[in-house]
Amino acid sequence: MTSERHPGKAKQAFLAILARRGIKDKRVLEAMEAVPREAFVGARQTRYAYDDSPLPIEEGQTISQPYIVALMTEAMQLEPDNTVLEIGSGSGYAAAVLSRIVKQVYTIERHPMLAKLARERLADLGYDNVRVLCGDGTLGWPEHAPFDAIVVTAGGPRVPESLVRQLVIGGRLVIPTGPAIHQQKLLRITRVSEDETESEDLGGVRFVPLIGEEGWRDTEGRMT
Ligand code: SAM
Repeated sequence: MTSERHPGKAKQAFLAILARRGIKDKRVLEAMEAVPREAFVGARQTRYAYDDSPLPIEEGQTISQPYIVALMTEAMQLEPDNTVLEIGSGSGYAAAVLSRIVKQVYTIERHPMLAKLARERLADLGYDNVRVLCGDGTLGWPEHAPFDAIVVTAGGPRVPESLVRQLVIGGRLVIPTGPAIHQQKLLRITRVSEDETESEDLGGVRFVPLIGEEGWRDTEGRMT
């Protein structure tokens, strides 16, 4: 992987922040260390790449705050042989982090331009265990289901039933959900049996809206 480099001072400070904020999973910290976040943002944002904050990307979307990427990745309780589905590829950064931890990553993005950029960027950087699809991620990717874990990086009004149905028994869905369009609770939903789930509240978060058939129907938060 030619693009991965020895962490400079900014990256070391960034890793220290993640650890200080409570990220304990060594594999998550190692993956965050390995993936060059600066390669997933535009030239104007490069100098902020190791700030612990979200940054703007194309189509009015964001690359998530690194702490939140680490928190959601840790919350999925991943094992090396797992297959993971991500909804909301955005820049492709979180998919790259996941690809360092598990065997296979599938990721879906609704904006064609973002999906194309993420696909090209991930291929250029050599992340060859990630597949990017352009489409409505609230419906999942049935062709590759079931998944050991699913992460949704945009906030919807409710937990999409299609995603729960695409988890293995024992699988984990990490998703921001809530009735307000820009404010959600981060939930971990575990599929404990064919028809039962358990839900844990991991705290308050703010994500861009999840737009789709089992999400918000438009950017104003209408569910028509
Ligand atoms: N994980 C991304 C990264 O590492 O850069 C950040 C994702 S950004 C916070 C959320 C993304 O979800 C946006 O790119 C948005 O277009 C996408 N999105 C919203 N609704 C979607 C849907 N139904 N299916 C797929 N992507 C969706």
